[in-house]
Amino acid sequence: MAISYDGAAEYSRFSVKLHIKPLSTLERQIFVITTSVALIAIVLISISVAAIFYKQGIENAESVLRNKNRFIATQIQGYVAPLRQALEYSSSTRSGLNHLHHGEPETQEQILQLFQVLQNTIPNINFIFAGYADGSLLINNYTPPNDFDSTIRPWYQAALKTYPRISDGLPYQEIKSKEWMVSFSKAFTDDQQEVLGVISIDASMDAIMKALATQDTRYPTIYNFVLDQQGMILIHADTALPESVHQSIATQLSSSELSTDKLNYRDGDKQRLAHYHRIDELGWIVVTEVDIADIRDPIIRTIASSLVFVILASLMTTWLLSLGLSRYLITPLIKLHKRVQEITEGKDDTHYRFPNNEIGMISTAIEKLTEKALVQKNIELNEKNQLLNTLSHTDQLTSIANRRRMLEILNKEISRYYRDQQPFSVLMFDIDYFKRINDTFGHEAGDQVLIQLAQVVKNSIRESDTLGRWGGEEFLLICPGTRLKNAEQIAEKIFTAIHQHSFPKKLQITISLGLSEFTATHSPETLLVEIDQKMYRAKQAGRNRIQI
Ligand code: GH3
Ligand code: MG
Ligand code: MG
Repeated sequence: MAISYDGAAEYSRFSVKLHIKPLSTLERQIFVITTSVALIAIVLISISVAAIFYKQGIENAESVLRNKNRFIATQIQGYVAPLRQALEYSSSTRSGLNHLHHGEPETQEQILQLFQVLQNTIPNINFIFAGYADGSLLINNYTPPNDFDSTIRPWYQAALKTYPRISDGLPYQEIKSKEWMVSFSKAFTDDQQEVLGVISIDASMDAIMKALATQDTRYPTIYNFVLDQQGMILIHADTALPESVHQSIATQLSSSELSTDKLNYRDGDKQRLAHYHRIDELGWIVVTEVDIADIRDPIIRTIASSLVFVILASLMTTWLLSLGLSRYLITPLIKLHKRVQEITEGKDDTHYRFPNNEIGMISTAIEKLTEKALVQKNIELNEKNQLLNTLSHTDQLTSIANRRRMLEILNKEISRYYRDQQPFSVLMFDIDYFKRINDTFGHEAGDQVLIQLAQVVKNSIRESDTLGRWGGEEFLLICPGTRLKNAEQIAEKIFTAIHQHSFPKKLQITISLGLSEFTATHSPETLLVEIDQKMYRAKQAGRNRIQI
C-alpha cells in the first residue's frame, strides 16, 4: 500500500497515534514474575527438601546406632553365655562339686578334671578355678604363691556380693601377659546354704574388644564401650581402660528405666548421639555413640547437592517458561509491533506468521484493523487532496478556474502546440462600466453579475474550452484546437449569450473582448500582453466589441 506524497504531513500525525509502548517492559515484567515465582518455589522446595533430608538422615543414623548397639550386645551375650552356663553347671548340686571337701586328693582330682573338660569344651575359657573359704585355690597348671588367699581376691568377693547370682563381669589386666580379661564367678554352698567356695572363670576379652572395635564407614566416629550400672567405663576399645565415670551418660541412665534407648549428650566440645543396651545378667550397659557432626555433615552435603539440583531444575523451568512465553506471547507481540509499524510506514512486503492461539488471532485482527484504518485514512486524504486541488485552482466567487489554473492550462497548450502542432486561441474580456453597477446597486449585485456572467459564458462554450477569472471583472478563455477564425465565432457566440441573458436589476451587460491565436512568435507573456492591449483597444473604440 502506497501513501501519496501529499499525504505525508497527515501520515506523520497518523503514525503517532499508532505508537506502541516498547515491549522490553513486558519482557521485564514477565521476567520479574517468572523469577519471583521460581525463587519462591526454590525457597519452599528447599525448606521442604532440607527438612525431609534432615529428619531422614537423623532417623537413619539412629537406626544404624540402634542396630549396631543391639548387635554388639547380642555378640557379648553370645560370648558370655557358655561361660555363664559352665559356672552355673559347675556350681550346681548336680555337678557334685559343692559336696567335696577340701584336702581330699581324689576329689580335687575330679574337680580339676571337670575344669579341664570345661576348658576343652569352651575354648574361650582361659582359666577356670575354684577358691575355698579357707583361702586355698584349685586350678590346673598353676601353683599359687604361698601367701595366696582366695577369699580376699576380687572375684571371690564379687561372687559373695552377688550370691546366688553370678557376679557381674569384672574386667582386669592379667599381670604377666598384660592381656585384658573378664572374670565371672559364683559362690557355691553346702546343703545348709553355707558358702564353701567360689568357682571362677576367666576369659579373654579379645572377642568383646573386637566386637566393640567394629567401625562404620558411613559414620567414622561411631564408638562402642561398656559401662557398669554406676556409669563407670568397664570395657573400651582403646587398650587402656579409662576407669572413669561417664558422667553425662550416668546422669541420663539413672533417670531411665528402659533396657534400651537413645541418648543425647555433650562430651567436651562434641555433641553426641548414642544408643545403649542393658545386659542385666552381666550388669553391663553397652553404649554405641557417634558425633552428631558425623550425621549432620553428610546430611548437609546431601541437602546442598539436592539444593543445587532443585535450583538448576527451577532455573531450567524458568528458562523453559520464558521460552514458551516468548514463543507464544512476547515474540508474536514484537512481530505485531513491527508489522503495525511497517504498515504505518507504508511497507507491505513482509508477511508474519502469528501463532495459532488467542494472541495470534488478536495480532491478525490488529494487523487487519491497522490496514483498514490506513486505507480509510488514505481515502480521506485523497478526498481532501482533491478538494485542496480543486480549491487551489478554482475562483471562490464564480466557481470557474482561477488565474493560477489558467496559467497552467496556457503553458500546457503551448507545450501541446509545439509537441502536436495543435493550434489554440486565447480570448480576454472585461465587463464594461462595471464600477457603475457596483456603485449603483451595491457590491452584492456586482457579485451576482459576475457569477451569472461566468455561467452564461461557460454554457456557451465547448467542454474542451476553459473559462477562467483573470482578475476583478476580467475573464480569460482558452480554446484548444481553435484557429483565430473559430475563436472569433466563439466570441460572437459569447456576445449573443450575454446579450440574451437577463441579469439582475434588468441590467444590460456588455463586454469588450480581445483575442489572438497563439503562434510560434509568442511567449505566454507576450500573448497575454497582446490580448490585453487588444481588449484595451476595444474599450477605446467604444466598448461592447471584439478586437482581433
Ligand atoms: P471599463 O468599462 O473601463 O472597464 O469601466 P469599469 O467601470 O469596468 O472600470 P474598471 O475596470 O477600472 O473597474 C472595475 C471595477 O470592478 C472596480 C472594482 O470595484 C470592481 N470589481 C472588481 N472585482 C470585483 C468583484 O469581485 N465584485 C464586485 N462587485 N466588484 C468588483
Ligand atoms: Mg476591468
Ligand atoms: Mg470593466
